[in-house]
Amino acid sequence: MTDSNYEKIIKLRIEKTKKALEKNNMQVFIANNKNEVPDIVKTLINKDDLIGSGGSMSLSQCGIIDLLRTSDYNFLDRANYTPENIQEFYIKCFSTDAYFTSANAITENGELYNVDGNSNRIAAIAFGPRSVIVIAGCNKIVKNLDEAINRVKSIAAPANTARLNCSTYCNEKGECAAFGQSCPGMTSGCSSNDRICCNFLVSAQQRHKNRIKVILVAEPLGY
Ligand code: SF4
Repeated sequence: MTDSNYEKIIKLRIEKTKKALEKNNMQVFIANNKNEVPDIVKTLINKDDLIGSGGSMSLSQCGIIDLLRTSDYNFLDRANYTPENIQEFYIKCFSTDAYFTSANAITENGELYNVDGNSNRIAAIAFGPRSVIVIAGCNKIVKNLDEAINRVKSIAAPANTARLNCSTYCNEKGECAAFGQSCPGMTSGCSSNDRICCNFLVSAQQRHKNRIKVILVAEPLGY
């Protein structure tokens, strides 16, 4: 496949996903590359807004954490918290004006799929912050929820457990233990105390229109 054909397919998938997310009452923006993301973000937040975020490689890669650390915003920076008071950070995030995160997968049917261990991130996506801003590279787009489940077990979770140095099967073997089990389902996996797949959130049609905003970036970000 030529580069231009690949780019055309990515654009078509992004457009299809955008329409489906909008049908589900989420507002969608498209960035051609990660450099365009900060300018889009600036239109979605106000000076002095109280802002929180979930842990995400995508946010760092497109310069959003650096942007939020400027004096223009009242950013709850998790780097300023310790294991002793991190719970305070998690609770404060529920009353933010805007909460930034990525997604583990986004389906072409317009669903966000997220899996968490501690689950502060998926809790804030579902409830609390006035606005949730999801930034996701085109590598996060999948056909449907089955592909989303598979993506987490084969790509996102192994990469995140390696990053976080978790003692899990997927960190050691590169894929979820579920693949070796008969009839694995969404919640199948390891029994490690470090397991990061504990709660599973599908964000489908939203009651609060445009509370969730999604910036789809036409290049890969995070994992
Ligand atoms: S259930 Fe365990 S092995 Fe499977 S992806 Fe999650 S952390 Fe990794």
